[in-house]
Amino acid sequence: MDLTQFKCQRCNKCCEQPGDVTLRHGEEELMAQFLGLDTRDFVNQYCDMPVKPRLILKENTNQHCIFLTKEGCSIYAARPSQCRDFPLKWIAPTSFDTCEGLQKLL
Ligand code: SF4
Ligand code: SF4
Repeated sequence: MDLTQFKCQRCNKCCEQPGDVTLRHGEEELMAQFLGLDTRDFVNQYCDMPVKPRLILKENTNQHCIFLTKEGCSIYAARPSQCRDFPLKWIAPTSFDTCEGLQKLL
């Protein structure tokens, strides 16, 4: 399998999977700026902190990411590095079951 041939199919399955999207230090400021929010308001509205000091994005009740819409990620230009890095820099054990781009490489 040649990951350099990976092409995202915009299926949004990665954003629908349960599991933490953890922010790197400072990413909350960039995301808040993108949304025109004060950083503290952004954190209160969109983040949880189950393990200090790391922020994770909240999920909707269906376990989809809080920023996932029918049109895709509503903060795509400011999405966290965890999202940008998938799947070229990290893959979960279930990624091949869900990611349509990875399935095309099999
Ligand atoms: S921030 Fe955007 S790209 Fe990342 S999981 Fe949420 S909807 Fe998907
Ligand atoms: S699951 Fe894979 S193909 Fe689908 S949007 Fe995410 S990265 Fe792209």
